[in-house]
Amino acid sequence: QLPLALMLSLLMGYIVWLATANRMSLSWQISYGITANEFMVYCQPLINAKSGECDGMELLLRWHNQRQGWIAPDVFIPLAERQNLIAPLTRFVLTKVVAELPNLPQCPSFHIAINVAASHFRDRAIVEDLQNIWWPANPMPKLVVELTERDALPIIDQSVVSQLHEIGVRLAIDDFGTGHSSLAYLKDLQPDVLKIDKIFTAAIGTDAINATVTDMVISLAQRLNISLVAEGVETAEQAHYLRERGVDHLQGYFYARPMPIEDFPQWLEQHQAQ
Ligand code: C2E
Ligand code: CA
Ligand code: CA
Ligand code: CA
Repeated sequence: QLPLALMLSLLMGYIVWLATANRMSLSWQISYGITANEFMVYCQPLINAKSGECDGMELLLRWHNQRQGWIAPDVFIPLAERQNLIAPLTRFVLTKVVAELPNLPQCPSFHIAINVAASHFRDRAIVEDLQNIWWPANPMPKLVVELTERDALPIIDQSVVSQLHEIGVRLAIDDFGTGHSSLAYLKDLQPDVLKIDKIFTAAIGTDAINATVTDMVISLAQRLNISLVAEGVETAEQAHYLRERGVDHLQGYFYARPMPIEDFPQWLEQHQAQ
């Protein structure tokens, strides 16, 4: 009896140790990966629904880890958030896009969206990073901060929101209608943009309940004068449906998959030639 219990508890201990060691090593590998240039900035074009022109992009992180190969953002971003490594990653994205700015369209109608974790709003950290990295570049394209929230509803500092607006940054709520992003955000953040999550885009023509939510989010945003982006547009039918209802921007595989930011100028040339 006793040896069995002992063996079981040893086994359990070993499993817990293994799990912790694995987590630790991945978060260690994130910090290492930043210095070792393992991260890349990809971008996905945003299409103006009315004109069909590309007038913006969203920046998306990619990680090619030496040992494990490609690791999906859905795996490493939540981990980075928990390990306080998300701010260095965001700074990496900002630095990279500032370096690429000379190759991107130089007009105020072109906008660049970055994903920012709610924790980065704490202590004005995001404002300082933008002032230090984005602002000195004095860039033409507008910056949009897409606020993502994975864990509990954060207490977002109102003064941070107004400071962002003061320095000309527009605020978007990502994945609207899912998870923790709630109606209360609309009042607290006064967003300029709502992003319709891809589960709602996918519901068009297939899932009556979610398609009803899509319609309601669209009319809500229009009444509040908030600009709308639909993500995950994969078919002409979805694009048509969203355009008919006045969604401002469309984004998804139907137009372009995320690509290395260095490849964007060539993609844009081809898109404009079409
Ligand atoms: P997100 O911000 O909602 O980004 C949209 C995701 O949908 C991206 O996944 C994109 O590649 C994918 N996508 C785009 N078009 C389509 C489509 O037509 N169909 C489908 N099925 N998917 C599409 P990705 O790049 O794997 O990123 C996943 C999430 O990781 C992002 O979701 C975002 O929340 C987070 N993330 C990515 N990069 C960053 C970053 O630099 N900072 C932060 N804080 N989060 C990031
Ligand atoms: Ca996003
Ligand atoms: Ca999203
Ligand atoms: Ca998402």
